[in-house]
Amino acid sequence: MNAVSDTSATRTTAEWQAADSAHYLHPFTDFKSLASKGSRVITRADNIYLWDSEGEKILDAMSGLWCVNVGYGQQALIDAATAQLKQLPFYNSFFQTATPPAIELAELLAEVTPPQFKHVFFSGSGSEGNDTVVRMVRRYWDLMGQPERSVIISRHNAYHGSTMAGASLGGMSYMHAQGGLPIPGIVHIQQPFWYVHGHGKSRDEFGLEAAGWLEAKILELGADKVAAFIGEPVQGAGGVIVPPATYWPEIQRICDQYGILLVSDEVICGFGRTGNWWGCETMGFRPDLMTFAKGVTSGYIPLGGVMVGNRIARVMIDQGGEFEHGYTYSGHPVACAVALANIRLIQREGLVDKVRNDTGPYLAEHFKALAEHPLIGEAQSIGLMGALQIVKDKATHECFDSALEVGMICRGHCFANGLIMRAVGDRMIIAPPLVITRQQIDEMVGLIRFCLDATLRDLQQRGLT
Ligand SMILES: *Cc1c(COP(=O)(O)O)cnc(C)c1O
Repeated sequence: MNAVSDTSATRTTAEWQAADSAHYLHPFTDFKSLASKGSRVITRADNIYLWDSEGEKILDAMSGLWCVNVGYGQQALIDAATAQLKQLPFYNSFFQTATPPAIELAELLAEVTPPQFKHVFFSGSGSEGNDTVVRMVRRYWDLMGQPERSVIISRHNAYHGSTMAGASLGGMSYMHAQGGLPIPGIVHIQQPFWYVHGHGKSRDEFGLEAAGWLEAKILELGADKVAAFIGEPVQGAGGVIVPPATYWPEIQRICDQYGILLVSDEVICGFGRTGNWWGCETMGFRPDLMTFAKGVTSGYIPLGGVMVGNRIARVMIDQGGEFEHGYTYSGHPVACAVALANIRLIQREGLVDKVRNDTGPYLAEHFKALAEHPLIGEAQSIGLMGALQIVKDKATHECFDSALEVGMICRGHCFANGLIMRAVGDRMIIAPPLVITRQQIDEMVGLIRFCLDATLRDLQQRGLT
């Protein structure tokens, strides 16, 4: 270890856990159940590996939380933060002021995004970015003289964050159930999840049908009431659901036909995850707005934002009038400095091409083989994100009773065996750092297979298979 003092060594695991459950309310957590077993305390990391307070090494197949795309311990990012902290740790952009890192990052984002994007609005996270989307979409239609166009259409099982607007745009029913969501003016259509909703149809046929649900909803509401459609190119937290190839081009056609703004939530798919810089490039559509966060700094420091397409930016700029919206940390100079170092590293190392041409196809080949496992009904991957659907019956696509929490059983075996894989219901998902090597993919897939075998034995012992 380096000269930085290692605070993890100052207490035992049990002491950390006691203080944790005494004071720390974790996000998306059942506080009572966690207190009964105690957190796993993560103390350090390098490349694609984490270590906990017991000294156990773990392969992080989730890039932290979909964000540590360049892996842990990248000196260029650490140096960029340190230098900016010394030079100018904070200044805002409210008072007709700006800082060099924020300006340079805006310029670089315009370079690495599709050609319709020349402007950016910064936020502190993906959720805030989507709050900005709601504000901006409605501001745009106001300026266009069509204020009654205010409804935003999203999808069930989408994830767009956890603020009031983010959770409302999202389609998680368990989130809506707490706190009276969604807020008014946000409606949802069904997701393009072929394995569950499209059984018996070809993928392409189902993709067109699923896109058609958008058109049906527009006609039901009246096109003159609809402001925008928002979607993740590939649903992430919903379970890495890769839509059929026919889906997004048809969504684009429908949005064009009715003049509706198209918003791509690129918080996970952006910055190379799917093998192109942006998920919309992989899936073949041309959004008016793109939300980003997570991979913009590889999670080293919080930052998010919205890329604003020319269609909207021109109206907002040319018509004048203040946009009454912003965050204290919009364009935070340290976060922007880290983002600049992160994006330059991605460019220098050719990480996006590597995912598209090398590690993505390599993962796909090895991942596909996991579909032969007795528990796995479907193995899907795109770029460096993938999902394994655990099923009871491969022929009928029948799933296990959700009360059995088979995904959580599998996740438990992963956690106990040095692998972080996430469970979304009975879908086991991965999104490893983009720096992962072929050899490390072999290691990861080997661990996954081992954990699936352990899960199968466990289920057999419980008499569930
Ligand atoms: C994580 C995520 C968000 C929310 O980002 P936060 O930084 O957690 O607020 C929004 N959209 C998608 C697609 C995400 O995966």
